[in-house]
Amino acid sequence: MSQKLDLELISLTKRYGATVAVDAISYHFNAGTYACLLGPSGCGKSSTLRMIAGHENVSDGSITLGGRDISHLPPAKRGTAMMFQNYALFPHLSVLDNVAFSLRMQGVETAARHARAKEMLELVDMTALADRLPAQLSGGQQQRAALARALITKPDVLLLDEPLSALDPFLRIRMRAELKKLQRELGITFVHVTHGQDEALALADEIVVMNDAKIEQAGKTRSVFEAPKSAFVARFLGSHNVVSMPDGMVAIRSDALQVTSTDTAKLPGTITNIEYQGTHVALTAVVRGEQEVTALLSDKDFFGDPKDLGEAIGLDWEAEAAHALAS
Ligand code: ADP
Ligand code: MG
Repeated sequence: MSQKLDLELISLTKRYGATVAVDAISYHFNAGTYACLLGPSGCGKSSTLRMIAGHENVSDGSITLGGRDISHLPPAKRGTAMMFQNYALFPHLSVLDNVAFSLRMQGVETAARHARAKEMLELVDMTALADRLPAQLSGGQQQRAALARALITKPDVLLLDEPLSALDPFLRIRMRAELKKLQRELGITFVHVTHGQDEALALADEIVVMNDAKIEQAGKTRSVFEAPKSAFVARFLGSHNVVSMPDGMVAIRSDALQVTSTDTAKLPGTITNIEYQGTHVALTAVVRGEQEVTALLSDKDFFGDPKDLGEAIGLDWEAEAAHALAS
């Protein structure tokens, strides 16, 4: 954990028979980055993570950590650790012994490994529950135990596959804040797989959007969100409208759309849905008789000049709010 080791994927490829699950992806993760691999189900996220962890063979290309080729090393020798979606805790072992498990495999004697396991439990605020069995823990507590177990080997890179998906929505938001805090404290690289754009936006310094076995767009989270390059990325990140204009397709953020009553607006439309969201109102209109476009208005703006279903409106935006899309 003391050295700063960058993780690099070089033309990394995974084939399962005729299926290409990961198609020659390359990416450089700077040490200490919180990165999210984001994409729909089946796009190759888990296969990528499992290859980094060493739980899956690399079909082609390579993986380096701190310049060292780790592509063919056993999982325990890579400097990575993996936290699984279902936590995979051993049901018959106490929390303490679950956390100490990999040290036991390394032949570390009982007193020493329990001391280290206690440090890890302290880190995730689970000291009081050390003697419990996994079945006696809540979902959030199981997650903390799994985190402590993954971190005990002092990995340079922690790999997390949909780590929050087993939690209810309320707990998910709390645990995601804790993951972020833990990553900041440890200063190690986290590579977190998710299909949830809100989760990725909330956590990631860098976001890697995958689609159909390839990287569609990657970079600093805010840069990707502010300037999606393809219709796929704009749609997948949400909060964007993809609109075809005479000079091509553009992405426009929902909160950048202004609603007017004039017919000089760039896009005339008819209101098809009005959704109250507390602080905001999402107003959906059909434009050009086919495309749906959503404007996110502050409650003040909407209720200052309320509109009705079926009403004709105009949608406008500042020129710089529209981003040209590749496809
Ligand atoms: P994701 O995690 O993004 O949902 P996966 O990496 O699990 O995607 O899967 C990518 C593709 O590889 C999918 O088409 C999936 O069906 C296929 N795949 C995943 N694991 C296996 C496997 N063990 N054998 C055969 N095909 C697999
Ligand atoms: Mg997966």
